[in-house]
Amino acid sequence: MMNTMTKERPVDLATFYPSDLYEYSSALTDGELIVLKELREALETELRPLLSEYWEKAEFPFEAFKKVEKVRMMDNPLLFENRADKRKPSELYNVFRYFELAKLDASIATFYTVHGGLFYATLLEGGSEEQIERWAEKTASFQIQGCFALTEPEHGSDIAGGLATSARKEGDTWIINGEKRWIGGAGSADEMTVFARDEADGNVKAFVIPGKAEGVHVQKIEGKISLRMTQNGHITFTDVKVGEDRRLQKVNSFRDVASILRITRADISHLATGLTTGAFEAALRYVKNRQQFGKNLGSFQLVQEKLSIMQANVTANLAFSVRLAQMQEQGNYREVNSSMAKMHNALRMRETVALAREVVGGNGITLETDVARFFADAEAIYSYEGTHEINALIVGRYLTGVGAFV
Ligand SMILES: Cc1cc2nc3c(=O)[nH]c(=O)nc-3n(C[C@H](O)[C@H](O)[C@H](O)COP(=O)(O)OP(=O)(O)OC[C@H]3O[C@@H](n4cnc5c(N)ncnc54)[C@H](O)[C@@H]3O)c2cc1C
Repeated sequence: MMNTMTKERPVDLATFYPSDLYEYSSALTDGELIVLKELREALETELRPLLSEYWEKAEFPFEAFKKVEKVRMMDNPLLFENRADKRKPSELYNVFRYFELAKLDASIATFYTVHGGLFYATLLEGGSEEQIERWAEKTASFQIQGCFALTEPEHGSDIAGGLATSARKEGDTWIINGEKRWIGGAGSADEMTVFARDEADGNVKAFVIPGKAEGVHVQKIEGKISLRMTQNGHITFTDVKVGEDRRLQKVNSFRDVASILRITRADISHLATGLTTGAFEAALRYVKNRQQFGKNLGSFQLVQEKLSIMQANVTANLAFSVRLAQMQEQGNYREVNSSMAKMHNALRMRETVALAREVVGGNGITLETDVARFFADAEAIYSYEGTHEINALIVGRYLTGVGAFV
């Protein structure tokens, strides 16, 4: 008998989120669920048909993504009903937005995170009220595309101490010189957040530099085996000039950068949760249809054990993401919380994509079944936003009080 007290939701959660066995999604508001449903429909209609082709030719489907932007996944008014913060939707919605994007494709989710995660978070955390006013609305509505340039050719994991891009102030003008590597979306960005070391005081500062500014040169990184759709750039800055109004006023040392990374690492832990789910669901679909020995693959004991591990990984990753989101909402989370979530979720993601690939057999190395794309793309997610080792060392430092980076 139907429980008459049960409130009808905009979607049937058990059908909409079949892999969310512990019902984390039940805490989403109706408005959030409506946006997530529209987001899924747009992703399925506009982007899914293009994924294999664009992955293979290593291009990003910009035009199709523009159609998805119409859902207003960052600034839809439904996300702000009864919410005091009018710039950022709830952290729980953020988990399920990444879940949705990465469950479809990791490059699509990465394109979003570079803009809506890294660039936007840096602006909101590091900008003055005036600067936030200048760029936030345009960012949230995708009128401008942003990127985030921290990593350098010679400094990845040791960027905190090693950052070599320089900023020199002459009068009211800053002059930036240096190189950045791996920067997602660099070739198409309208605005780039660039981290550079102030020659005067040796501290790391952040600048919002127009992508087309004189002296900015972007070279696409070719020949990748992971996130092939993501357009990563190697950027060279030669005497690039920007005014003080483009220096983010609240980024005055690497400590400020670290507090931004605390946010963006949480985002990537959610992205890893979505990718884990995408690989698992693709594998589950496959084994329910493929027959060997006259029976569905899914009916074999050894295959079911792998499905169980994958489902448990999805659940554990969601648990990390959702609890972290609750702590973020309360404002009481620390660097160790984000680093442990990223480390854990990426580890379980990597295990899951390998199991998914395995149960799909030979077809698991073709783009046709989706799992190959997830398998390859997981490698980049495993390494960016702090490699496994760097996040483990952050957790280790918390546990022992001893920094063991060097
Ligand atoms: C697809 C992709 C997209 C990216 N997008 C961006 C972006 O948009 N913006 C941006 O700024 N950056 C971006 N990055 C850069 C990314 O954050 C770096 O790749 C990452 O920080 C690791 O740096 P690295 O690749 O130079 O590796 P390295 O630092 O050279 O590390 C190589 C290996 O050594 C290990 N290692 C290093 N130091 C230690 C240590 N002390 N102890 C133990 N092991 C150690 C690492 O864990 C790793 O396994 C992206 C990277 C990729 C692959």
